[in-house]
Amino acid sequence: MTDGPSDAGTGPLGSVESLEPVWNVFRQGGVVACPSDAAPMALAVDGARSVYRFVCSRCGVSSPWFEAKASQVTLHGSTNPDLPPDSG
Ligand SMILES: [Zn+2]
Repeated sequence: MTDGPSDAGTGPLGSVESLEPVWNVFRQGGVVACPSDAAPMALAVDGARSVYRFVCSRCGVSSPWFEAKASQVTLHGSTNPDLPPDSG
């Protein structure tokens, strides 16, 4: 399982800047291509937390979990001081 660049932590689609355009392609019915092997990526949904991530159907590459509101994407788990503490 040691195939490709071993850069743990900063995988493909690991930033809002790279996720947001991909998310918008997906929203508009487009196909998201895996950055590793260009296979189509599927959208995984965690309904309990209302977060999403893309997972490659072929090689298993996945993006971090993210929240999406309309066209805006926020990485899940990254504490953003601009967000109000929503403990509901
Ligand atoms: Zn792949």
